[in-house]
Amino acid sequence: QPVRFDVIVIGAGAAGMMCAAEAGQRGRRVLIIDHATKLAEKIRISGGGRCNFTNLDVSVANYLSRNPQFCRSALARFTPGHFLERIQRHGIAWHERDHGQLFCDDSAQDIIDMLRAGCEDGHVEWAMPCEIRHITPGSDAAERFALDTSHGRFTCASLVVATGGLSIPKIGASPFGYKIAEQFGLPIVPPKPALVPLTLGPDELAIYKELAGMAFDAVAECGEGRFRENLLFTHRGLSGPVILQVSSYWQSRDYDAAPGATEGGSRIAVNLFPAEDVRAWLGERARGKTLLGNLLSDRLPKRFAHAWCDQRGWNKPINQFNGKELDAIAAALEGWTITPGGTLGYAKAEVTVGGVDTRALSSKTMEARSVPGLYFVGEVMDVTGHLGGYNFQWAWASGYAAGQAV
Ligand code: FAD
Repeated sequence: QPVRFDVIVIGAGAAGMMCAAEAGQRGRRVLIIDHATKLAEKIRISGGGRCNFTNLDVSVANYLSRNPQFCRSALARFTPGHFLERIQRHGIAWHERDHGQLFCDDSAQDIIDMLRAGCEDGHVEWAMPCEIRHITPGSDAAERFALDTSHGRFTCASLVVATGGLSIPKIGASPFGYKIAEQFGLPIVPPKPALVPLTLGPDELAIYKELAGMAFDAVAECGEGRFRENLLFTHRGLSGPVILQVSSYWQSRDYDAAPGATEGGSRIAVNLFPAEDVRAWLGERARGKTLLGNLLSDRLPKRFAHAWCDQRGWNKPINQFNGKELDAIAAALEGWTITPGGTLGYAKAEVTVGGVDTRALSSKTMEARSVPGLYFVGEVMDVTGHLGGYNFQWAWASGYAAGQAV
């Protein structure tokens, strides 16, 4: 005989535990299933072990999606303030860093423990590690889905898919959520790694790999994304927060973007002088005999400034350039164009862009419009936050929305 539940949640990560706790506390009989042996590993490793659990300033502008307004309603109903109230109620010490990012003082484990306690309050039952073999549509509204698993057969009225994105497969990421969507005829926006370091092509890498470890403040733009933070050279290419942010907007030439995609860029433009008018700055120094590379070392790391000038044959005394040439140098400093060779892939990506197409879901409840009782929450959907706590805020908000509806 199958065991009957009101709600089964697949994936005991951030969104899944949030949803299970809410549904359980509303009196639903809830089972949460995960194939991993350790609970919520992605929360544990997040934010360098301190979990950047939300951001004080969250709006739809912080998210990428083929359906940009979709996240508005859920984000408005479960805000960073609501999550912070819970953090404070559980006595978790936290602090704010730059750009409104909130972190635990001690450990991300505090967040996992809080979510787990919420599930206990809701008498949520667990099957973990548990492998799901088949999902079949059930016979009536109380048993709309039947799951054959390594723990036996379960049925439920509401099935919530909270299996996350594809990043970090070694701690349990899988495409299972996308397969469930496909099984029930729901469209998928092609996934790709995001918030991920980028590699450089061989020519640029030959010039810049010597600079691995060097970082400086820059503005980077790609497609609709524009950010100002640190850029870091690595032995494979580029990283640092500004590159992670624009990587979500970057598209390799072979990315199979479905119709209606927001055009990402295949090039990244970097302003190396974000803080001042570089043409005026060069003009004020144009009569001196200082080498351009040495001059730029006032604002940029010396070895980078020289490599950048050498590459262009510009490492001459500044007074040897005429006005037009200075215009060209200023333009190149404000728009250093990089054509990345690729990304470091899901092994190093923080998140996945794309996923279950939200146009097939209700923005109020996260339920599939064409499949009553089937819900998707968190990163498995085509909603991807910027770096800075936005991905967890989406997991909390979408998990809460479905948790109130199931
Ligand atoms: P997850 O938390 O990934 O949970 C999905 C769950 O589904 C997992 O437990 C997995 O085991 C389970 N699952 C997958 N496949 C199956 C299957 N076939 N059967 C059963 N179970 C399955 N975001 C922030 O906002 N702030 C940060 O500081 C931050 N730091 C990060 C650091 C790193 C290194 C990484 C990789 C990500 C970070 N993120 C951060 C992103 C954030 O972790 C995710 O966006 C968030 O965890 C998504 O929540 P989720 O519940 O949708 O998925």
